[in-house]
Amino acid sequence: MSNKPGTLYIVATPIGNLDDISLRAIAVLKAVSRIAAEDTRHSRRLLQHHGIDTPMLALHEHNERQALKGLLKLLQQGEDLALISDAGTPLVSDPGFPLVRACREAGIGVSPVPGPSALVAALSVSGLPVDSFCFHGFLPRSSSARRERLEVLAGEYPTQVFYESSHRILHALRDMCEVLGGDREICVARELTKQHEDIMQGSLDGVLAMVEEDTQRQRGEFVILIAGAPRRDRDLPDEEALRILDLLLEELPLKQAAALAAHITGEKKNRLYKLALERR
Ligand code: SAM
Repeated sequence: MSNKPGTLYIVATPIGNLDDISLRAIAVLKAVSRIAAEDTRHSRRLLQHHGIDTPMLALHEHNERQALKGLLKLLQQGEDLALISDAGTPLVSDPGFPLVRACREAGIGVSPVPGPSALVAALSVSGLPVDSFCFHGFLPRSSSARRERLEVLAGEYPTQVFYESSHRILHALRDMCEVLGGDREICVARELTKQHEDIMQGSLDGVLAMVEEDTQRQRGEFVILIAGAPRRDRDLPDEEALRILDLLLEELPLKQAAALAAHITGEKKNRLYKLALERR
């Protein structure tokens, strides 16, 4: 028995295509003494595909609190362990949070082996702004709770990202259409990296129609990405403010012109200063 605790490796696995796994992930999964897997039967296929015969034990949402005590003990005894989920990056809408938290609190090292996640894969191909986004995991199952959540998000500027299953894809898209309006731009990424990969994009009502018309497109796993709310007009200084700024810029130094224009129009001085810089 070693005095030094082992390390818990959080290992990302494919979201469809079994070859989407890093060389390091394979090496770590081979080297650790055990792999905690969400569904051992499901993960066996992946491990066999890559010639990994490390023993597995189950860690899923129903036994998570229970199982973590045993895992902590093994780590404290010096064993290195890996955590994997059925697909993608563990903890991202998947089990593992209590275990990682407990390891951190116990001073046990937790190390990532990064790789696929449906969230990042979908963002990278969506054609929607990625500089700022908000990930919500799964929306509530009941329509009233789902609509309530969507109403809260309706005015947000960043791209909004959700996971969705085949059971609720149509209901979710219909609620989105009603709450956010059919014009809002959307991307629905279905079955990424799999044989029937399908990336639909356009207006919310257009994409809803595509999914309604074709039952094939209601099957599989989905990431829904919705463009943020359009910037409101009041975010732009009105034309009158710009006219005054331009007039003052003809007579005054830039800083003074911006300050005076702000005083006259009630616009923010900083914004007018930036605009003045651009207009000079
Ligand atoms: N941990 C995973 C990750 O990093 O992406 C997510 C696990 S979550 C339980 C499963 C959900 O992820 C699915 O219901 C679906 O919304 C999304 N998902 C997983 N694989 C996908 C794929 N190949 N294409 C589209 N969405 C996928």
